[in-house]
Amino acid sequence: NSDQAMFAAKSQGTSNYYFFTQALQIKSSYRLKIATELREALQLQQFEMVYQPIVRLSDGRILHAESLIRWRLSSGEILMPSNFITIAEETGLIVEIGDWVFNEVLHFLQSIAHDDVSIAVNISPAQLNSPKHSALSWHEKIQEAKILPRRLVFEVTESMMMFKSHLVSSKIKILQQGGCLFSLDDFGTGYSSLASLKNLEFDFIKIDLQFIKELHRDARDKSLVSAMLAMAKGLGLQTIAEGVETVEQVRLLKEMGCDFAQGYYYSKPVSAEEFKDMLSKSNHD
Ligand code: C2E
Ligand code: MG
Ligand code: MG
Ligand code: MG
Repeated sequence: NSDQAMFAAKSQGTSNYYFFTQALQIKSSYRLKIATELREALQLQQFEMVYQPIVRLSDGRILHAESLIRWRLSSGEILMPSNFITIAEETGLIVEIGDWVFNEVLHFLQSIAHDDVSIAVNISPAQLNSPKHSALSWHEKIQEAKILPRRLVFEVTESMMMFKSHLVSSKIKILQQGGCLFSLDDFGTGYSSLASLKNLEFDFIKIDLQFIKELHRDARDKSLVSAMLAMAKGLGLQTIAEGVETVEQVRLLKEMGCDFAQGYYYSKPVSAEEFKDMLSKSNHD
C-alpha cells in the first residue's frame, strides 16, 4: 500500500519521484486486480440489479424505477458502483457489464404487466463510444422481448456529450428512433448542461441531488431549481428530482411544479421482488 511506498521512499532518502512511481505501480496493480475480479464476477454472476421507485408528485404513484447495479462478493459483502464502475469503464469491461445490465432490465420489464411503468438504465459514455457495442443489437433485443420501447429510459450524463463522435450520436439515434426514451442524469453538475440539452432531444432531466439536499433551507438552491424546472417546461421535458429525503422537499417540489421525485423519502433501491410488491400497492391494480 501507499504507506509502505512512502516508507520505502523515505528510508532510501531519495526523491519524491521514487515515491511517485511506486504509488503509480501500486495503483495500477490494484486496478488490474479489480479488473480480473470484474471479469470473474461476470462469469460467477455476482452482479445484481436493485430498483429505486420514481414517484409522480401529483398523485404519489410509482410510474418508473431506476435500475442500479450491485456487486455481491463471495464473502457476502456488497460493493457499490462507485467502487468499480470507473475501473470497468477504463478497462472496457463496462461494455459486457452493460450488456448484462440491459438483459436483466429487459427480463424485469417482461415480468411487470403494467405497460405504463418504465425502467431507467444508466449507461456510461464508454459503452456507446465502443465499437464493440451495438445499439442495433439492443434494438433487436427489445423487439424480441416484445417490450414497448418507451418503457426503457436510458440515463446519460453530461460527460456523454463530450464524446461528440458520430458513433455515439448515431447509436443514440437508433435507440430514439426505435422509441426508447432518454434522460439527462445529474443535471446541473457538468460544465455543458445547456449545450447537452441543445445537442440531443431528451425526454427527462434529472435534477442532481446536490440542488435538492438543502432545498428547504437554501433560497439559492430554490432559485436554481425553479430555473431548471422552468427551462425544462419550456423545452417540453419532464423533470425528476433526485435524492429527495424529506417531506419538506416533497412539498416544495410539488409547489414548484416538478413532475417526479426519487429518493430515500419514498424508498431506497430495493430488490426486483420488493419493487413489484411496492408497485402492486401503488394503485396499479
Ligand atoms: P446515479 O445514476 O445518479 O444514481 C443515483 C444514486 O443516488 C444512486 O447511487 C442511488 O442509490 C443514490 N440515491 C438515491 N436516492 C438517494 C437519496 O435520497 N439520498 C442519497 N444521498 N442518495 C440517493 P448508487 O446506486 O450508488 O449509484 C451511483 C452511480 O453509479 C449512479 O449514479 C450511476 O452513475 C452509476 N451506476 C449505477 N448503476 C449503474 C449501471 O448499471 N451502469 C452504469 N454504467 N452505471 C451505473
Ligand atoms: Mg442515474
Ligand atoms: Mg443521477
Ligand atoms: Mg448521480
